[in-house]
Amino acid sequence: MSPTRDIRAQTEEDLRGWLKSHGEPAYRAEQILHWLYRQRATRWSAMTNLPGGLLKLLDQDFTFHPLNLITRQGAPDKTSKFLWQLHDGSLIESVLIPASPALYGDPSDRSTLCVSTQVGCAYGCRFCASGLEGWKRNLDPAEIVDQVLGTERWLASLPAAAETQLRIHNLVIMGMGEPLANYDNLLKALRILNAPWGVGLGARKITISTSGLAPRIRQLAREPFQFRLAISLHGVTDEIRGKIMPVNRKYPLRDLIGACEEYLELKGRMLTFEYILIAGINDSLDQVRPLAQLARRLHARVNLIPYNPVEGLTWTRPPDAAMDAFLEGLTKQRIPATLRREKGTDIDAACGQLRLQTERAWRKQIENPKTAP
Ligand code: SF4
Repeated sequence: MSPTRDIRAQTEEDLRGWLKSHGEPAYRAEQILHWLYRQRATRWSAMTNLPGGLLKLLDQDFTFHPLNLITRQGAPDKTSKFLWQLHDGSLIESVLIPASPALYGDPSDRSTLCVSTQVGCAYGCRFCASGLEGWKRNLDPAEIVDQVLGTERWLASLPAAAETQLRIHNLVIMGMGEPLANYDNLLKALRILNAPWGVGLGARKITISTSGLAPRIRQLAREPFQFRLAISLHGVTDEIRGKIMPVNRKYPLRDLIGACEEYLELKGRMLTFEYILIAGINDSLDQVRPLAQLARRLHARVNLIPYNPVEGLTWTRPPDAAMDAFLEGLTKQRIPATLRREKGTDIDAACGQLRLQTERAWRKQIENPKTAP
């Protein structure tokens, strides 16, 4: 029978248990983890200090499918978007944003990697390309972890200075998919990314961004990790939020705010509200005061994000002056707020666009090979 568990979905404890059950010494776990997370090995044969018999056993019991980098858009010193192919042919995206000060509460000038958790998305937020063709499947823990390792492999291929400058300092779980809808796999991946024997990213450097699955936020609040939480808010009344986020019908603001209060109480950590400014929908200045009141109540900072046009969607971005006025309004109310000057509009940085365009082009090519470039 072919193996179904990927080696990069194993915790140190899982590996020790597996080694014990095969009569292998426990110290081999450390060696295997070293190859996976320090050396970022992508094949068994790279693990040169492991005996052949053990490598054979590993190969029998575990899959080892590194992500295949299909394309990368962007210059090394700018926002880079990575399009990965999974072993079943599905496509996902990650985005590396260099020098993103204070985006998620980290005051330093550090780079942030944004990773996906699902192929497609079922939540259909009206500003997002990821949901346009629906949900296909959840990513397994290894596919989440390998977006970090794969990006590090790409960084390691750069000249030394660029690699140091662009190291991954912060992780945002905000790419394609609703992270909390893939809860168990996400938590396992984050355990591996956070562990000193794994990737070693501090929990406080990891932000989970959700469209607002209130019961899962309450569950997350009870986990023994200090992850940061960001809420895709985008509206402070059910009427406005409902136009932008269909999830608001299931978990209206009252539920969402209650869950956020619980998170705040149990974790004591500042939240982040994501607020995409969309012309004529949620950018009116009369929204500033209620947004400020909510942010104050939940001890939240506000990330204002200019709407990024998505092919096939009709909304537009407000003029710069309107966005500046909205930011100024929040600042006057003493709410920590930033207006993210969009990095990467030129490289289709809106969530899910690169995947969508590539899949459509491939489909066209298959359906009509004569028109292929
Ligand atoms: S914003 Fe997130 S939750 Fe909403 S459709 Fe896009 S990927 Fe899904």
